Amino acid sequence: MSQQTTLAVVLPKFAQFVQQLPTVDDLANCDEETLHRLWAGLGYYARARNLKKGAEFIVNRLNGRFPQSYREWLQIPGCGDYTAAAIASICLNEKVPCIDGNVIRVVSRLLALQDVWNTAGRSRIQDYLTQVIPSDRPGDFNQAMMELGATICRKTKPRCDICPLQMQCLAYANNCIEICPPKKPRRVLVDTELFVLIFWHRQTDTLAIGERTDGFLAKTIGFPLTIAHQLSKLDRWQPLQLPGKFTHAIAHHRITGRICVIQLNSNDIDISMRQHLALSKTLHWMNRLDLSAKLLTALDRKAFQLFQNYTYSDSICEQLALNL
Ligand code: SF4
Repeated sequence: MSQQTTLAVVLPKFAQFVQQLPTVDDLANCDEETLHRLWAGLGYYARARNLKKGAEFIVNRLNGRFPQSYREWLQIPGCGDYTAAAIASICLNEKVPCIDGNVIRVVSRLLALQDVWNTAGRSRIQDYLTQVIPSDRPGDFNQAMMELGATICRKTKPRCDICPLQMQCLAYANNCIEICPPKKPRRVLVDTELFVLIFWHRQTDTLAIGERTDGFLAKTIGFPLTIAHQLSKLDRWQPLQLPGKFTHAIAHHRITGRICVIQLNSNDIDISMRQHLALSKTLHWMNRLDLSAKLLTALDRKAFQLFQNYTYSDSICEQLALNL
């Protein structure tokens, strides 16, 4: 949970999560909606899905037995190097280094290494830590390194005056802390225009949401999404694009979101439209009040807010009515 999310946000969510899903069986068997509700606000839903996939693997493939080594943990779906190393060293006392951004910074400074953001640099750090990690308390060592990076060997204004590693630190000795490590190359952001489709049954004032089976936010429940050049395929349903837009970020996509309303006279959504939009069979039609509690992703909430603003304005209602 605390990857990419601050501890202040994580702690109450974690307490709630383990209270409602206290065992690996509970997590493996919980429904998507519960999982999303418990994860709401933490972002990066793929992590929640991976957590559940991992629990399913342990329950169904390993008969509920937890892996007993770093290598075994790596077999668990969604469990990468960092998580496997953290569990293996802290819970299983295995001598395997745990490398996060803080640890990379500390080692970069200790060895006055600048070349740390590529595979060779990463291997150098891994080799160094493998040599120095102690056999008796590898978990404590890993936590100490991470903590040192977070609190003393900070990105800016490191506290070298109280650092226990000052005597060994080459960057300190050579006065090159500022460039160790150099700034991480920025990921190039891709600008993407995304259309949020709101199916609106005007007579009952209900809206449809369903599980998105593909594309952006796949496997989450919300409004169907489509990209600009596929929008024309929906022409025969006369989508009405509302004015206004919102911005959002998903992974390396910088998204501009727009709303298209499609009015329907029944709760049936054409099978071809459903296929085109990669929507699951089950759609939930809800009134606005119920819906606002069901929208779990920030993107859906922003889209819904925009829809609310416009459908409460008379002129848009008239336009939508003409569209029928
Ligand atoms: S001496 Fe300074 S730069 Fe070196 S490890 Fe300690 S805090 Fe980091």
